[in-house]
Amino acid sequence: MANIGFIGLGNMGGPMAANLVKAGHQVSVFDLSEVALAHAVEHGAQRAESAVACVDNAEFVISMLPAGKHVAGLYLGNGIDAGLLEVIKTGALVIDSSTIDAQTSINVGKALAQKGIDFIDAPVSGGVGGATAGTLSFMVGGSDACFNRAQPILANMGKNIFHAGEHGAGQIAKVCNNMLLSVLMVGTSEALQLGIANGLDPKVLSEIMSKSSGSNWTLDVYNPCPNVMPNVPSSNNYQGGFMVDLMAKDLGLAMDTAVHSQSSTPMGALARSLYTMHASAGNGKADFSSIFKLFDKQS
Ligand code: NAD
Repeated sequence: MANIGFIGLGNMGGPMAANLVKAGHQVSVFDLSEVALAHAVEHGAQRAESAVACVDNAEFVISMLPAGKHVAGLYLGNGIDAGLLEVIKTGALVIDSSTIDAQTSINVGKALAQKGIDFIDAPVSGGVGGATAGTLSFMVGGSDACFNRAQPILANMGKNIFHAGEHGAGQIAKVCNNMLLSVLMVGTSEALQLGIANGLDPKVLSEIMSKSSGSNWTLDVYNPCPNVMPNVPSSNNYQGGFMVDLMAKDLGLAMDTAVHSQSSTPMGALARSLYTMHASAGNGKADFSSIFKLFDKQS
């Protein structure tokens, strides 16, 4: 069993750390939020008083933070606190599972390597449900050796573990996936609303499209129309799940990635505008399937 330091115990990090405890690892945890920290301790993790104390003696350090600035600040320093690269022990493996820009992952990986510390970017897909059930998909960027070393640890938190390529490749795979997901969600929403506006029952239409060429994950598993499916955010007033604000962030990362590679992403650009507008209208904390309401003729 391994000594693991886990930093960032929010919606995703909390249950991921709990699964590592369940697998029998020694898990030291830290979060700026006292509530998040206390919750992880209730699940059997050991409380650390600071990020520095959390990584003391850790063979694996895992972070699950909101954005690139938090990850860079934590490992490289933020002008006030020194970065963890000064204290993580040589030979340790850092696994950053936050969804951030690929360039920050590459920079952090390079800086850690200069101190003899290994690094992989390992963003996830599967949401809070997947984090709790231990069925996340991990998209890993880093060397073969680091990927092989991380695999047994990641397997305690996820089901599908993919090696996308070198540092940053996990982040690129993640933004490609989420850009596609957003486009599918918008398309599914407008198709369902078109049917409803023309007198169709959304349950019947969903079943027809699910068995036809319009079938896709947002229609079949995560239907955005309320009361078509049980146990999805749309049937729970769009609470829980994956926040509009986070989808808007990921689409911003996708657009930056497209600019960097001079790629054409018109559907992604439109989805980014729609999600940004939806967030600005006060829906930032709702699940991303709430974009369905944007096409409601009655609202
Ligand atoms: P969250 O806001 O619930 O959790 C982030 C946690 O990090 C908070 O508890 C916060 O206090 C803590 N934190 C921030 N800066 C810190 C620091 N310097 N030191 C210690 N703790 C710090 O976010 P989340 O939903 O858990 O998402 C985390 C990451 O996972 C994001 O990058 C997100 O895009 C990605 N993600 C989220 C989902 C989802 O469904 N929520 C799915 C896939 C990927």
